Amino acid sequence: MARGRVLRLFIGNMASGKTRHLLTEIDTLRKYGNKKIAVFKPRTDTRSGMNCIKSRRGDEDAAEEILATHPHELWPLLRSKEAAAGCRFQVIAFDEIQFFPRNSGFFQLVKSLLEDGYDVLASGLAFDFRGEPFGSTPDLAMLAEDRCMWMTAYCTRCGSRALYPQRIIDGVPAHYNSPQILVGGDETYEPRCDDHFTLPGRPLAGYDDPSPQIRIWPQPTEAI
Ligand SMILES: [Zn+2]
Repeated sequence: MARGRVLRLFIGNMASGKTRHLLTEIDTLRKYGNKKIAVFKPRTDTRSGMNCIKSRRGDEDAAEEILATHPHELWPLLRSKEAAAGCRFQVIAFDEIQFFPRNSGFFQLVKSLLEDGYDVLASGLAFDFRGEPFGSTPDLAMLAEDRCMWMTAYCTRCGSRALYPQRIIDGVPAHYNSPQILVGGDETYEPRCDDHFTLPGRPLAGYDDPSPQIRIWPQPTEAI
């Protein structure tokens, strides 16, 4: 199997420049690397407008939308783009990869693209509004190894490094039980640091967790 192509990933919080870096990379590869690049994004993301990805600074690029729960529909789109261009593309780029669920097959799709000889560029949110790993981003980060770049955002309250997107509904922090995906802009989310990230209703991690992934035995007699 012809493995060995390059996966590069830009991940981090909102407002960290992920999409801007992705667009800069696409632009550089096109202009100076003479690469043919096809850009895709999940259909869940409606903020950038139809069929384009856009950074906060206003840079944008055309992007084909594929169903977040069925990313393999990329293949016929890619083949028809290549047929129309009369040549094979060298690079496939994705924005907002967190919206591809872990069970959607996106990880396997990216592996297939790499095995098929394409380089892959991608950007996505690392954590969701609960401060938990988001969709396919962590899986791809493992695949990208040391070519995964963490982008830094800064807390809107104190200016410290901000890892988490704080979801705000009607002026107050959203409850832990609200849905994982709620597409919104700056009116709904802002980057926050550990000290200023607030999540009402977050279950306390510990020995009372009804479904712990790792059970420790014997259990300690005193709460830690
Ligand atoms: Zn802060």
